[in-house]
Amino acid sequence: MTRQRQLIYDIILAAPEHRTAEEIYDLARAEMPSLARGTVYRNLGLLVRDGQIRKLEMADAPARYDREREAHPHLVCQRCGRVEDLVLPEGLLDPLEKGLGEPVTGYDLKLYHICPACRKAAN
Ligand SMILES: [Zn+2]
Ligand SMILES: [Zn+2]
Repeated sequence: MTRQRQLIYDIILAAPEHRTAEEIYDLARAEMPSLARGTVYRNLGLLVRDGQIRKLEMADAPARYDREREAHPHLVCQRCGRVEDLVLPEGLLDPLEKGLGEPVTGYDLKLYHICPACRKAAN
């Protein structure tokens, strides 16, 4: 792994945040000022391709990058775009699979809310 790629990977592994490429670029540049934006985007693509991180496509907003590699649901703030991990309750897919008569092989689930910080700001 190149030094640039390792740095980008470390930034993603270091926090549960689901950061955008621009946020990752800003953090990476603080460590390595010569880093080009295109290098960050290219290396994010390679990390996703190699299964080291996951890319989370967002509706009407830039994609975010996730250190958690197993499938899991997300909770998304509709105001600020903040993304949190959720744990799928045990057995939640059972009634669905029973209805389908076959196993579900994967899912892509986002739940939306207004996060506490945005709720507070609105009051
Ligand atoms: Zn929010
Ligand atoms: Zn996640």
